[in-house]
Amino acid sequence: MLDLKKFEVWFVTGSQDLYGEETLKQVAAHSQEIANSLNNAAGMPVRVVFKPTVKSTEEIFAICQQANVAPECIGVITWMHTFSPAKMWITGLKSLQKPVAHLHTQFNRDIPWDSIDMDFMNLNQSAHGDREFGFIMSRMRINRKVVVGHWQDPEVIEQLGAWSRAAAGWNDWQGARFVRFGDNMRYVAVTDGDKVEAELRFGFSVNTHGIGDLVAVINQISDSEVDKLTAEYEERYAVMDSLRKGGAQYSSLRDAARIELGMKAFLEAGNYKGFSDTFEDLHGMAQLPGIASQRLMNAGYGFAGEGDWKTAALVRAMKVMGTGLPGGNAFMEDYTYHFDPANPMVLGSHMLEICESIADGKPKCEIYPLGIGGKADPVRLVFNVAAGPAINASIVDMGNRFRMLVNEVEAVAPEHDLPKLPVARVLWKPYPDMKTGCAAWILAGGAHHTGYSQNLTAEHMQDFAEMAGIEFVKIGKNTDLYQFKNELRWSEVYYQLNKS
Ligand code: MN
Repeated sequence: MLDLKKFEVWFVTGSQDLYGEETLKQVAAHSQEIANSLNNAAGMPVRVVFKPTVKSTEEIFAICQQANVAPECIGVITWMHTFSPAKMWITGLKSLQKPVAHLHTQFNRDIPWDSIDMDFMNLNQSAHGDREFGFIMSRMRINRKVVVGHWQDPEVIEQLGAWSRAAAGWNDWQGARFVRFGDNMRYVAVTDGDKVEAELRFGFSVNTHGIGDLVAVINQISDSEVDKLTAEYEERYAVMDSLRKGGAQYSSLRDAARIELGMKAFLEAGNYKGFSDTFEDLHGMAQLPGIASQRLMNAGYGFAGEGDWKTAALVRAMKVMGTGLPGGNAFMEDYTYHFDPANPMVLGSHMLEICESIADGKPKCEIYPLGIGGKADPVRLVFNVAAGPAINASIVDMGNRFRMLVNEVEAVAPEHDLPKLPVARVLWKPYPDMKTGCAAWILAGGAHHTGYSQNLTAEHMQDFAEMAGIEFVKIGKNTDLYQFKNELRWSEVYYQLNKS
């Protein structure tokens, strides 16, 4: 969907004039070598661009201003090869609007025991230079990621790679447009929230169109376009006989294809990055969009059902962050439980709309009654999801702040065929265990809707939450309910006091 290589993170090295030309030349050469090495590293999804060493308040302010307005720049990596008195950074950092990663590294991995002299000491000062910089960032209460280690250390590259992916997702949200077809599912709390605060905090807008606006576009789709798309369905999926050309329900497949084409045209015309709909408001539509939502998600659109605009936006950001990695990202819902004490797990699904990107093998394309909504039977893709590590992520509106929750889970291979459950589904075990994981999620007020990811980790989501300046709550292998409850209580106080 997206080429992350069109984005840049700028590698900015801080110093001061005190050291003289010779030392500063070496600083520049070393920085260039580190930036190039990171730029060429397989784990870096974006370009790393070397910038000339900054040595004064004016130079630092100038580079921050340039970063702010450069559309391709999604973040700044800082490093203090030498000492860089940090009061020089205040004016620049105050104005900087792009995410920051502080790389606490050193050009030499090892101390050259036999040759180390005062020239070496004069040049290789990041052990204390980066501390001066760290102080001013902390003093200014600026969120940033601190990555420690030698610049060729694979762990360092992986951490910077995760941060770059989060920055790409964050960049994608700025000015993004999401559309809701109809309002929220009536009376539902967690899927609603403050859209004004969301736009201030997150940078994306959410606006509603009556379903009639969409239906008008759907009705304009030509029969020949529908022919083409149903042929694509037949080629790409295991389409059940009754839906195939000449089958008794072929017209339903055509209805589904027309809905997909209409939604796609609507999203493209409005320059939208994602959408939500609701089964309670489908006036003029033949079916609830099933396969349409599944395939549009696979094409990169964010989606969530029942008017859930926060999860739709989150799914979009997760898709951007996961670009190019094996595995997928999908809208998900904790649907029903298996409470067998020997093998407890969650069955995740939705009525229809799970993204094809997480399918294990070729999906089946089938049609069955839905049971709610009062419309014709909807066409949907049916598939299982492979075993492996995954996360569920949710953003909720706590009234005075947004909270992001992440639960690390382990998807397990399905042991049963589920012959009477014709929806996409996945089975997982929450960490640290079923009871603790579910209790923690409920205590934190996590939604029933989530973004499910096979290729992102809690690290990506935490970096993302810190860029957004929102609360981040992780439920993982080390979660202990006693500590977890305290964390929630203490965070409550923090967010009541911190009104910035
Ligand atoms: Mn739902």
